Amino acid sequence: MQAGAAIIFLMSALFLTSQVASLVLRPAPFLRRRISVEGKSRLSFRPMAAAEPASGDGLKKGIAEFYDESSGIWENIWGDHMHHGFYEADSSATLAGHRDAQVRMVEEALHFAGVSDDPLKKPMRIVDVGCGIGGSSRYLAKKYGAQVQGITLSPVQAKRAQDLTMAAELADKVSFQVADALDQPFPDGQFNLVWSMESGEHMPDKEKFVRELARVAAPGGIIIIVTWCHRDLLPSEEELKPDEINLLNKICKAYYLPKWCSAADYVHIAGSLPLQDIKRADWSDNVAPFWPAVIKSALTWNGLTSLLRSGWKTIKGALVMPLMSNGYKKGLIKFTIITCRHLRQTHTTHTQRLEPKIS
Ligand code: SAH
Repeated sequence: MQAGAAIIFLMSALFLTSQVASLVLRPAPFLRRRISVEGKSRLSFRPMAAAEPASGDGLKKGIAEFYDESSGIWENIWGDHMHHGFYEADSSATLAGHRDAQVRMVEEALHFAGVSDDPLKKPMRIVDVGCGIGGSSRYLAKKYGAQVQGITLSPVQAKRAQDLTMAAELADKVSFQVADALDQPFPDGQFNLVWSMESGEHMPDKEKFVRELARVAAPGGIIIIVTWCHRDLLPSEEELKPDEINLLNKICKAYYLPKWCSAADYVHIAGSLPLQDIKRADWSDNVAPFWPAVIKSALTWNGLTSLLRSGWKTIKGALVMPLMSNGYKKGLIKFTIITCRHLRQTHTTHTQRLEPKIS
């Protein structure tokens, strides 16, 4: 009875908060802007200056604080993988099933990219770009016996990732540091596998992001980017529709995201770099059960009390969860995998560039 009253109180608190949030997260006006990648230009959307999603140090600080604050609650309910699960389309799953689906996501991504299990070809040096608390890093280190280095903007995540790694007795293989994916603290050509699981959406400069992934990849190394994209624009379109932009802007504010891009934009960027075997897939149908499950877990006693203890940034993130579901249902948000391989040559000039092979 007491618990029931408390839940009603908490629900009311969340409802009131959501009203405040709807003011805070008010839709932004926008305008069209031409952006250019390696000399090829195309049209995309960009919010007007006054409502522009954060960028630069403000964005980095927001991301770090968001994950400093919210990673504990996520780990408490969902474990150490801070990413979507991969499901058979139309499946339903228990919480344990959702955790299996998150591991399956890692396996599906490796399979899609053609990462070899062959002892002579498997990746032995891996970077986990935007590593969270190291769920993928430890999984990949165990699977391949590889050395893994993880980077995150959040000092709390880096510390927790290191503690979990010590507890898993993997500290000789896996390490973490606070560093920026756009300016990685690694020399060129270091890694046989460059792994970015759901961090690309936070990157304010997608071209610099992919360029940096390519820079640290060893010749022949595989790059895997699993990320949130907006739908590809139709040939007749110059930008997303206003209501689509409004929806994405609300998500941007709550999750500390800069402007979104499409899978086609990623392919275009990858094609301008010394990368080959560029492949993409839309896995939106395979992640469909995920957000409803996260929302359900937030509405449990544990979820609600943890949320209220966590802080405003986390609550704001929780309030926006239905918008993610909505974005998928509308076909606006696309859960995307893009993979490619660094060209074997160590040095590639502009004139040597190959046309991208897209599938
Ligand atoms: N890949 C992890 C975590 C995903 S959450 C997992 O699947 O479990 C997004 C992660 O991206 C967070 O760890 C956040 O700190 C990181 N991130 C976002 N922007 C970043 C940047 N510019 N440099 C490094 N890490 C970044």
